[in-house]
Amino acid sequence: MQSAQPILPLDVLNRVFGYSAFRGEQESIINRIVSGQDALVLMPTGGGKSLCYQIPAIIRDGTGIVVSPLIALMQDQVAALRLQGVAVAFLNSSLSFQEVQEIEGQLMRAELDLLYVAPERLCQARTLNLLHQIDVALFAIDEAHCVSQWGHDFRPEYIQLSILHEQFPQVPRIALTATADESTRKEISLRLGLGNARLFISSFDRPNIRYRITQKNNARAQLLQFINTEHPQDAGIVYCLSRKKVDETAHWLENQGIKALPYHAGLSASVRQNHQERFLREEEIVIVATVAFGMGIDKPDVRYVAHLDLPKSIESYYQETGRAGRDGLPADAWMVYGLQDVIMLRQMLSGSEAIEEVKRLEQRKLEAMLGFCEITSCRRTSLLGYFGEQQQEACGNCDNCLEPVESWEGTTEAQKALSCVYRTGQRFGVNYLIDVLRGKMTPRIEQFRHDQVSTFAIGRELSEIQWRSVFRQLMARGLLAVDMDGFGSLKLTPESRPVLRGEETVHFRKDVAKARKTARRKKSAQTHRSFSNSFSNQSEEKAVWEALRSKRNKLAQEQGVPAYIIFHDATLMEMVEYHPTTLHELSQINGVGSTKLEKYGDEFLTVLNQS
Ligand code: ADP
Ligand code: ZN
Repeated sequence: MQSAQPILPLDVLNRVFGYSAFRGEQESIINRIVSGQDALVLMPTGGGKSLCYQIPAIIRDGTGIVVSPLIALMQDQVAALRLQGVAVAFLNSSLSFQEVQEIEGQLMRAELDLLYVAPERLCQARTLNLLHQIDVALFAIDEAHCVSQWGHDFRPEYIQLSILHEQFPQVPRIALTATADESTRKEISLRLGLGNARLFISSFDRPNIRYRITQKNNARAQLLQFINTEHPQDAGIVYCLSRKKVDETAHWLENQGIKALPYHAGLSASVRQNHQERFLREEEIVIVATVAFGMGIDKPDVRYVAHLDLPKSIESYYQETGRAGRDGLPADAWMVYGLQDVIMLRQMLSGSEAIEEVKRLEQRKLEAMLGFCEITSCRRTSLLGYFGEQQQEACGNCDNCLEPVESWEGTTEAQKALSCVYRTGQRFGVNYLIDVLRGKMTPRIEQFRHDQVSTFAIGRELSEIQWRSVFRQLMARGLLAVDMDGFGSLKLTPESRPVLRGEETVHFRKDVAKARKTARRKKSAQTHRSFSNSFSNQSEEKAVWEALRSKRNKLAQEQGVPAYIIFHDATLMEMVEYHPTTLHELSQINGVGSTKLEKYGDEFLTVLNQS
C-alpha cells in the first residue's frame, strides 16, 4: 500500500482492523519500526503482538517478511488478513511449484504487503536472492524465543536468522515473544544481532484470566461439572500428563455428551492435524491434550484451560493457561490438584536420570509450583512476582481473592504426622500412616505390630480427609519426602527436625469441604461473566447472540475458515450490546474494518434487523 500522503498508524488500525485505539505500547512499537529502527518486543499472549508488525508493513514501502515457525497455522493467519483486505501470502513446503512461482511473481511486482515464511525457507539461497531484488519493508521474527538453545521450543533454523542482519542491514527488524525471562531475552538479542533494538516489555498480567486451583477428589466428575455449569458451549483445552490419560479423558467426556478430541505425540500426524484443525474451525470443541499441544495456537476464543495434572513449573503453568482468553474476554484457568499429584511428581523427580544440576533446577521449579498451589494469598500477585513483576493489590479475580482461604495452626498435628512416619520406620505410604494415626486395626497394622507404637491412635481428632490434606501440605513444603521405591513411602527430611523439636510452628490451609465449595462456586460462576452464561436463557439478547453466531458459522463453513476469522466473539458481543442498524453504526463496532464491512455488513445487519 503506497501513497503520497503519509499514512497514520491509527488510520490503518481503524480502517483495516476496525479497532478504535491502540493497546499498551503498540503505537510506540509501530512508530519505531515505521521510522526504520529495530525493536525487541516482550508481550504476553493475547497482548496484540501481530499488529506491531502488520501495521508497519502496510505503511512502509515494500513487503514485510514475517518469519513464523508454524507452517500449519500460517494458512489461517493469512486467511484472516485477506478477509481484512491486506495483500498477503505465505511461502512454505505445503505449496506446489506453480503456487510458489505465482507468489514470487506477486513479490516481484510489489503486490504484497506481507509475506509469511518458514525460517528454513527464508534462509534458502533462492528466497534470499529474491528478497535482494525487491523492497523489503521489515523483517518480523515471531516466536523469537525459538532461537534460545535452552528453551523448550528451540528451532535450529532460527539460529541462521542472523544472516538477515548481515545481508539486509538497512531493513528494520522486529523480534517478538511471549517468553519473559531475562536469559531468553539476552539470548534473542545476541543471536539475532539486536544490540541496537529498543526493548519493549509489557506487563505479563492477563487480567481477564481467572485463576483457580481446587482440591482434587474425583477429577473427571469435577471437570464435567466445571464444563457443564460454566462453559457448556465453549471451546476449551484440558491438559493431562500422560497420553493414556488424554485418551481416556477424551473418551469419557465424549460419552458424557461433550465434543472432545484427544491430542498427543502418540497419535499419527494426520489425526493430530485433523484434531487441531477441528479445534480451530468448529465451536464448542474441547481438546484433551498433553503439553505437545498449544504452541502458536492463536485461537482467540478459548474460554478455559483446565489442568487435570500439575504442570512441572510455574513457567509451564503460565504458558499453558495463557492460551485461554486471547481475545481479552473473561476466561478460566482451572486446575484440580491433590495428594497423588505431589507424590507422583516427587517420585518422578527423584527417579529422574538428569544430571545433578538439572535435577536441582527441576526440583526448585517444582517447589515453586507446589508453593503456588498451596498459597492462601492472591494467586496473580504470586504469579507475577515469580516473573519479577510487583503488583501491590490483590487482584479480585482468583479463587483466593474471591473466596478467602482460612488457615489453621497445626503444629501439633504436623508433629503427630511426622513422628508417625518416624515410628513406623519411614517405610509406609500415606494411607497406612493415616490408619495408624486414627487407630484403625487393619491386618497389615497387626502384622507389623504398629498398634504398639506410640503414635497409634493419637490422631482421632482429624478425619481421613483432613489428614490427607495435612500430609499433602507437609509434602508440598518439603517437610516430608517420597521414597524412590515406587510405593510412595514417606521419609523425614532435614526440614522436619525443627518442627518435631517444636522450634517451628506450622500453619495449614483449610481445604474447603466439598458441599460448601460447590454452593459457593455456583455463586461466583454467576458473577463471572462467562460466555455461554452471559445471557439468561430466554432473553432477547441470547436470541440475537445465537442468530449472529449461526450466521457466522454458516459463512465460515461456506468459506472454509475458522469462525473467529469472520468476526471474533468480542465483536459479536458488541453487536448484541449496541445493536447497530445501519452500515455506519456497524462500522463503529470494534473489529469491523472496511473490508469486512463491505463483505459481511449487509448479512449481519439483516440478522440484527430481524431480531
Ligand atoms: P499475540 O500475538 O500477542 O498473542 P494477537 O496479535 O493475536 O496477540 O492479538 C490478540 C487479540 O487482540 C487479537 O484478537 C487481536 O485482534 C486483538 N487486538 C490486538 N490489538 C488490538 C487493539 N488495539 N484493539 C482491539 N483488539 C486488539
Ligand atoms: Zn487474586
